[in-house]
Amino acid sequence: MAPRKFFVGGNWKCNGTGDDVKKIVTVLNEAEVPSEDAVEVVVSPPFVFLQQATGLLRPDFAVAAQNCWVRKGGAFTGEISAEMLVNLQVPWVILGHSERRALLNESSDFVADKVAYALAQGLKVIACIGETLEQREAGTTMEVVAAQTKAIAEKISDWTNVVLTYEPVWAIGTGKVASPAQAQEVHDGLRKWLQANVGPAVAESTRIIYGGSVNGANCKELAAQPDLDGFLVGGASLKPEFVDIIKSAT
Ligand code: PEP
Repeated sequence: MAPRKFFVGGNWKCNGTGDDVKKIVTVLNEAEVPSEDAVEVVVSPPFVFLQQATGLLRPDFAVAAQNCWVRKGGAFTGEISAEMLVNLQVPWVILGHSERRALLNESSDFVADKVAYALAQGLKVIACIGETLEQREAGTTMEVVAAQTKAIAEKISDWTNVVLTYEPVWAIGTGKVASPAQAQEVHDGLRKWLQANVGPAVAESTRIIYGGSVNGANCKELAAQPDLDGFLVGGASLKPEFVDIIKSAT
């Protein structure tokens, strides 16, 4: 089986202007990074900048939307459908981000429906899961992330186009990164969960990436963990140090 290619995603969240897009993309386009064979790089601007970013970005990097509607488009004011993303040739979408789970009450079932629908339309999915601080302190981390993964596993049969993204909520945007050992423990647990509940081939081939206060200084040690196949980066993806995070692939 082919080794899992390192994946680095940049989640720009609800930030920036058209000028900022130009600036960030210029830095990325001028960066010397490992080859496409070694790392897959995907940046995720807000919807309104997807086309601009796609037009400017180097061909070896791709874009992701930060969300999409759960079913076929229609009378859903303010939503963006998976079909629209496909129509714009946006290859990836982030689904289930903890900010949406918490602020917009997206349940694991709703996220799983979105994942299944997006995959069925031909999108590739960065599917986010993760525990809160209270859940970690209560010792239920594995239980929580397994339940979030199970919701998805019950609704999809092909994991080829899924990147499973472990993002402890307490580490997102807080500057409190998970230690390499903490991240590895959960990634290993998730891979074992996939092995037992989905199958050994899916467990072996599915990329499990980490997100939560990753930066240029802490990425190398995290990247060295055997079950950590890349990163989803928030704050640092808006800065030149994102290039250092991409370089941690090799
Ligand atoms: C994220 O929002 O996906 C994230 C990981 O954010 P940050 O890197 O800023 O913690």
